[in-house]
Amino acid sequence: CRLLSASSGSGRLAGKVAVITGAASGIGKATAAEFVRNGAKVVLADVQDDLGRAAAAELGVPDTACYARCDVTDEAQVAAAVDLAVARHGRLDVMFNNAGITGGTYAGGPIESLDMADFDRVMAVNLRGVAAGIKHAARAMVPRGQGCILCTSSTAGALGGSGPHAYSVSKTAVVGMVRSAAAELAGRGVRVNAISPYAIATAMGKRSVREIMGFSPVGAGAEEEEEVVRRVIEEDFNEMGCGVVLRAEDVARAAVFLASDDARYITGHNLMVDGGFSVG
Ligand code: NAD
Repeated sequence: CRLLSASSGSGRLAGKVAVITGAASGIGKATAAEFVRNGAKVVLADVQDDLGRAAAAELGVPDTACYARCDVTDEAQVAAAVDLAVARHGRLDVMFNNAGITGGTYAGGPIESLDMADFDRVMAVNLRGVAAGIKHAARAMVPRGQGCILCTSSTAGALGGSGPHAYSVSKTAVVGMVRSAAAELAGRGVRVNAISPYAIATAMGKRSVREIMGFSPVGAGAEEEEEVVRRVIEEDFNEMGCGVVLRAEDVARAAVFLASDDARYITGHNLMVDGGFSVG
């Protein structure tokens, strides 16, 4: 971690200040590390306090990376995470609205059995949380006339049938929200883009496959099941995949690009990080 914090004066995101939601785990955690490696200061926002604090501590001194509890379904907590970044570092350059849940039923079931309470929960995190993130990031960025907002969608948002209904539609709507906000904010110096990953063996990815396979998280055979889950994601799902297995770090590097000045003319875009899955 010394190396990471020592390098924070240079890199593609040198001097930039970022808030990342869902940063205690998976894609968000990998992106926080990649942002710090590229010179950014990061507020890691999540609801998993222990994991979030540990992820921030791994990245260096509190000035470089700190944890903030932030349930994205609570607008006041999203506003507070943005305000924390501004209070600590004087501004916000990058907001990564990445927190997401799949909902209770990845294994799905007929639409006649759609659980409307589950639908509302998924929307509250995946769409309303993103909308709140865009709103409060814009509040901090527009007065300075610059900033970059990223939002995690999914290949499940691009294609019907590759996720539960609520998850899928929430991720389609994220792209709609990105376009809508990008159109307005382009004239005010703030870029807004989506990133759509394919399947990755994060906590969410593995939980989803366990549900599809009908595995329980603990108990007899858990280790063998874990290996089956890994193989399903890394071998079966990724059989297109440009000959490589998709990792959270691949998404993190796409986020670094979009957040950097190299992408200064790119807005309203949905960057597929899917090895060609959605065009096949
Ligand atoms: P993950 O489960 O490892 O991480 C998700 C994080 O979001 C967790 O740390 C969790 O605590 C946090 N979170 C959940 N609800 C929250 C809330 N209300 N407020 C704040 N934080 C909350 O999963 P991941 O794969 O890293 O997922 C990150 C994003 O990537 C999600 O939006 C997900 O939909 C998307 N995605 C994942 C995959 C995949 O296969 N893993 C594929 C496409 C898109």
